[in-house]
Amino acid sequence: MKYAAISDKGLVRAENQDSYYVGEYVVAVADGMGGHEAGGLASRTAVEAVETALGRPPRRPKQAMREAFVQANAAVLQQARQTDQAGMGTTMTIALVDGRRLWLGHVGDSRAYLLRAGRLRQLTEDHSLVADLVKSGSLSPAQAKDHPRRNVITRAVGIQTTISPDVLSVQVEPRDRLILCTDGLTNPVDVADIERLASRVDLESACRTLVEAANRAGGHDNITVVMVEFPGDGPVAQAKGWRRFLSWARPAFACGQG
Ligand code: CA
Repeated sequence: MKYAAISDKGLVRAENQDSYYVGEYVVAVADGMGGHEAGGLASRTAVEAVETALGRPPRRPKQAMREAFVQANAAVLQQARQTDQAGMGTTMTIALVDGRRLWLGHVGDSRAYLLRAGRLRQLTEDHSLVADLVKSGSLSPAQAKDHPRRNVITRAVGIQTTISPDVLSVQVEPRDRLILCTDGLTNPVDVADIERLASRVDLESACRTLVEAANRAGGHDNITVVMVEFPGDGPVAQAKGWRRFLSWARPAFACGQG
């Protein structure tokens, strides 16, 4: 399994409040909110909880995914109390690879996409005010794109004592690509452009050109992109179960900074 990951401050913000985590078979992105460095602390705390909760292959991925969100939520709430930063929180999107099945856990407006044979499919639903308005028919997708309140999210990690992540799973096929990203990519860059740039043969350059596209469009927000490419057919890709899976799950290369 290959991966590439970049987190970029963008061209306007003073700090990068996004965080990501890349493990052997779990990846996550988080987009923090809160002033005075609280957002960055929230997103870092959340992805650190992912490492703790899912650092070893879980026996029951679906339950483990929910538990990871509960632990991340508790950790961010605790940080908020300790640092007296009420209102700090973060989005979080996690992908856990279980053989040929991909488990996704999600809260907020960061996104997971699957790229298969050049076609991009959004796997997660945004938990945001504008997404709700589009769903109810009050707003068109075009209106949502420039809506002044498009940053308002309706679910986040670390805001309430309870958390209800969306948890879903999809079957992956050889050479599928998974893309996790924050809204610093998806707000300024059209889906058609994400599809085209994410299809570039070299995974690292695909990741880099996506970040460059967001910066060319103004770079108004922090931009984080994590891409994973699943192996093609072959003896190792037939492996079933964690032990054998882990033998081909090691990342082939990495780029970027956390
Ligand atoms: Ca953001």
